[in-house]
Amino acid sequence: MTKMLFPISLMLLMLAGAAACSSADPKPATDEQMPADFVVLADVVPDIIQEIRYHSSFNFVGTRVDGYEAPVALATRPAAEALKKVSDELKAKGYRLKIYDTYRPQRAVNHFIRWAEAVSDTLMKPYFYPELDKSVLFDQGYICARSGHSRGSTIDLTLFDMSTGQEVDMGGNFDYFGRLSHPDYEGVTPEQMANRMLLREAMLRHGFNPLAEEWWHFTLKDEPYPDTYFDFPIRAY
Ligand SMILES: [Zn+2]
Repeated sequence: MTKMLFPISLMLLMLAGAAACSSADPKPATDEQMPADFVVLADVVPDIIQEIRYHSSFNFVGTRVDGYEAPVALATRPAAEALKKVSDELKAKGYRLKIYDTYRPQRAVNHFIRWAEAVSDTLMKPYFYPELDKSVLFDQGYICARSGHSRGSTIDLTLFDMSTGQEVDMGGNFDYFGRLSHPDYEGVTPEQMANRMLLREAMLRHGFNPLAEEWWHFTLKDEPYPDTYFDFPIRAY
């Protein structure tokens, strides 16, 4: 019996996916405990604002996602320490980092896959994928069998402007499925593009790589677990 995690048809669709899908041969880690070199992100970067969307029902699934037992960002220590430098730099310019997601257990990714297969469940379509038919989410790379987030060094975030008390205008919202989310999307205003680049350039200066499809998503270049997809649940450790 081979380890067939998903139906063949689904796997073939995933192979055709966009670059956002991780293609590495994964080493799953099934330990229920947080590894010693993971940290509670706010312990290392106390200035962050946390809005952990998959712990809430305001996400594309429309319910709390499996494995999100507490609204807490966890990450590898090297990713957290790099993010501290980003936070310090941008705080001096009047911003705080608002975190949507960091470490994501494999069981949460599996929940996304079950949701994507249930094509009649379109509860959150008006907010997150108004332009897309749900049936294309796999072959266009929006939903993958594995996520880099499960390796613990990937962060979804935006900027919060301390002078206005609001998120900065990025010309598109977190987890919007469409071209609008590409960092270089030409349809945004110059101010929105400047905001995207302010976040992006700070992240790149401190060791993160961007993603071509999502302005909010960054992965530590020298991530400590490039091949390991963790599944321990997110708790208030
Ligand atoms: Zn992400």
